[in-house]
Amino acid sequence: MTNILFAAGPDRWDDWAPPLRAALDQAGLGYALAQDMAPEVVDYIVYAPDSALQDFTPFTRCKAVLNTWAGVEAVVGNQTLTQPLARMVGGGLTEGMVEYVLGHSLRHHLGMDAHIVNPDHDWHWAPPPLASERRVTVLGLGALGAEVAQKLAGVGFAVTGWSRRPKEIGGVRTLNGDDGLAEALRGAEILVLLLPDTPATENILDAEALALLARGAFVINPGRGPLIDDQALLAALDSGQIGHATLDVFREEPLPKNHPFWAHPGVTVTPHVASETRAASGAGVIAENILRGEAGQPFLHLVDRTAGY
Ligand code: NDP
Repeated sequence: MTNILFAAGPDRWDDWAPPLRAALDQAGLGYALAQDMAPEVVDYIVYAPDSALQDFTPFTRCKAVLNTWAGVEAVVGNQTLTQPLARMVGGGLTEGMVEYVLGHSLRHHLGMDAHIVNPDHDWHWAPPPLASERRVTVLGLGALGAEVAQKLAGVGFAVTGWSRRPKEIGGVRTLNGDDGLAEALRGAEILVLLLPDTPATENILDAEALALLARGAFVINPGRGPLIDDQALLAALDSGQIGHATLDVFREEPLPKNHPFWAHPGVTVTPHVASETRAASGAGVIAENILRGEAGQPFLHLVDRTAGY
């Protein structure tokens, strides 16, 4: 019998239990799945960082903690977590993120706002450039960033991507490492942030980085709030260096009502909805990792605790 504890924020159990059971049943595994279990009998923890469970010490037999989220910054530094930690890859996250970034990129690229909100009925004749004439940079070329970069290139955008280690992605100019960052930012007209929140990425979009972008550039951040120096972004918006920022993630969530981002005309706030793990497909990813663990195979999507993602 494999004992699986489901530890996530309120309301998630109803979404996740049926597809998890279906995926585990299909695999023919003998298991118990519950929201409450004696820690010493638990083999796997299906986890979300909004769970009340923050002390992993009593889970002495636990073979892995399987995060249902892609981002792990809220759990990776937990000193009580000695078990392997896997994160979510798939589960609808990639499709959702591609849709979000394509939608917001095209909004800015086509200048849609001028036509959607036009109270004075101005005949604002300003045909946009073609996508091939628009330089887009994606910071982070992981499970999400690589697919986003490829899809943007598929639309025709001139895409540059940047990651920690070298990458090859068809149709995308790739750069990497600290040395490649300035080149990736220089002259970008749309900048997409799909980096994880780690000590190495905090404030990566600071005043110096913002100044390298094309004047009037658009920033789209569905990565994590701490990637951006908020004050530097507000200053760049006020000076016209940045034309608009579409922000999905923030240092504090929900974004406080009095935060200047809400009121700034150059900022679109979306409430951390860029992409969400769908239980229906995410359950299959979790079940596959449990089966791998039971078969003695290496877990998929393991987090590098040193790198923090
Ligand atoms: P991955 O771990 O697959 O990819 C991370 C990418 O960032 C990799 O390309 C990695 O480089 C790069 N990277 C990390 N650190 C550095 C660094 N110091 N310098 C340069 N590049 C670096 O993550 P995902 O693509 O799955 O997700 C990315 C982030 O998106 C998540 O961490 C999460 O914060 C956010 N997210 C937001 C959601 C939302 O709804 N807003 C939903 C889901 C995720 P390398 O390839 O060399 O390792």
